[in-house]
Amino acid sequence: MFDSTYWLFAIPGLILGMYAQFKLMGTYSHYSRVATARGITGAQAARAILDGAGLQDMPVNEVGGHLTDHYDPTKKALFLSSENYRSHSIAAVGVAAHEAGHALQHKAAYAPLHLRMMMVPATRIASFAYVPLLILGAILGGAYFSKFIGIIIALFAVITLFQIITLPVEYDASRRAKAQLLSMGLVHPQESGGVSKVLNAAALTYVAAMVTSVLQMLHLISLARSRN
Ligand SMILES: [Zn+2]
Repeated sequence: MFDSTYWLFAIPGLILGMYAQFKLMGTYSHYSRVATARGITGAQAARAILDGAGLQDMPVNEVGGHLTDHYDPTKKALFLSSENYRSHSIAAVGVAAHEAGHALQHKAAYAPLHLRMMMVPATRIASFAYVPLLILGAILGGAYFSKFIGIIIALFAVITLFQIITLPVEYDASRRAKAQLLSMGLVHPQESGGVSKVLNAAALTYVAAMVTSVLQMLHLISLARSRN
């Protein structure tokens, strides 16, 4: 099944994925060396945004790892990587504000966030199930593969849909973050360009993942059609 057309569908996603990683590394490392004029840390920025939205009870926790920052909607808590938690940089404040942006979405019952949360269990199952099916299909070959391909495409459709719905959630969290940072005076207007660059570079990795999934899905569909 990994025929010559596989690469036709895989290469654009691979290139975009590498470009996105490269861009994020460069932008993040640049703006993690530029301090904000206000001099607040990522943790303080997140705290201020949460407090400003009436979320005083929501904890802002420090976690290990590089760019492991996330909002956990089930725990209703923010988790910031040590460097973003402690740093005064534009990158740290931007990322921390973005994660607070997810908490604001949750509070505002932003529909795409809820849809994304609802899709998490199905996406976990699909991501877990499609790999052994793909391998089994590849081992057993043509006739057996055609039996499985419908299921594989259905599982992959769930994963792809999840990645598509992730995009508005990510861009909206960044939009909310920038609005709060500016209106609360946590960053100066001339610094917001740097915040945008960091957050756009981070969002591009989600775009790349989505494009990769859509292309893989198209490849599976083209395989199914050629076998029928
Ligand atoms: Zn996010």
